[in-house]
Amino acid sequence: MSKKHQTPLLDELKKGAFPSFVTEIEKAAVHSDMSADLLGQVELSYREKVTHWKHGGIVGVRGYGGGVIGRYSDIPDKFPSVAHFHTVRINSPSGFYYKADSLKEICDLWDKYGSGLTNVHGSTGDLVMLGCRTEVLEPFFAEITSRGWDLGGSGSAMRTPSCCLGQSRCEWANIDTMGITNDITQHYQDEMHRPAFPYKFKFKAAGCPVDCIASIARADMSIIGTWKGDIQINQAEVKNYAAKMDIQKEVIDMCPTECMAWDGKELKINNEECNRCMHCIARLTKALRPGKEKGATLLLGSKAPIVTGALMSWVIVPFIKMEPPYEEFYELIDKIWEWWDENGKNRERIGELIERTGFPRFLKEVGLTPSAAMVKVPRRDPFFFWSEEDVQK
Ligand code: SF4
Ligand code: SF4
Repeated sequence: MSKKHQTPLLDELKKGAFPSFVTEIEKAAVHSDMSADLLGQVELSYREKVTHWKHGGIVGVRGYGGGVIGRYSDIPDKFPSVAHFHTVRINSPSGFYYKADSLKEICDLWDKYGSGLTNVHGSTGDLVMLGCRTEVLEPFFAEITSRGWDLGGSGSAMRTPSCCLGQSRCEWANIDTMGITNDITQHYQDEMHRPAFPYKFKFKAAGCPVDCIASIARADMSIIGTWKGDIQINQAEVKNYAAKMDIQKEVIDMCPTECMAWDGKELKINNEECNRCMHCIARLTKALRPGKEKGATLLLGSKAPIVTGALMSWVIVPFIKMEPPYEEFYELIDKIWEWWDENGKNRERIGELIERTGFPRFLKEVGLTPSAAMVKVPRRDPFFFWSEEDVQK
């Protein structure tokens, strides 16, 4: 079948071992003029090295302040089918679980109302529907909400929270990440759909410090499952591993806090020094398990380099029980948001505000007690400096 637009530069991106977005858009272009014109416009942008998308007026659906990202072509005469090419964010389920029927339903609806192109999942975590005209937004919204879906967050609002699949499939999950994510989504519906913050705010929950969802780098608030007390050791299983691997080299020598010892018969851990990096547990899966008292560490502040540089989250609460109804957690979030609202500049993320005003002031004003676990860079930069006298006490 002949192509609507010749795309020699994009064709280059179909070569190689990896899946290509060009191949996928071409498949959609067989039955969608929007996708065909998208290829033409993107090819032109590659040739001219300028984008031909522009942000126009605010687009959205009645009653919601976010969830739709408006996008228009600045050359609609050349590519009329992408004159409007808005993105709709759909709130993804916790852990990204879908029934095949649900995915088919949403894809069929997008073939009907939009370009047929989706992005599952964008780095926002949402189920992203790419490309539609302004006049289909309301009918599409009415149809998806009648089937139980909802829009996700966009703009200066709480963004759609996301998590690792946690206890549903992973033996290391110390908290119910999916339950927490769903609860935050329901609890803060207003904050997600009616943007009123200085800028965006993201929650991500990981069941353990392996942090498969990369919350420590991507969420304004990272909720990371952890434990109190000693790592549980099954010495018989340790011996089984010793027959198959070099425990000294692969586990003991790689413990970042050097708190482990192995004499060929018994594995010992000085738990007071353990920083819960998960390395030993991940290597000796059958022999080691997290401690029995479960909870989460709350970290605040990470972001990508938009506006100013990238930040990683740092600890603000070393240990909190994360059990329904999460009252202590919500109380803290409300205080943090209030402080951000009062002090933050327009488009200033919470991490940037803390950097600008100072961590001690933040802790004092939201009522958190300073602790030695609040380090900016592990094992290097404490926010607090103790005198020799303090250490000797
Ligand atoms: Fe499992 Fe931890 Fe990864 Fe979650 S972050 S999936 S609990 S290993
Ligand atoms: Fe060492 Fe990490 Fe294991 Fe703790 S979890 S004992 S720091 S390897």
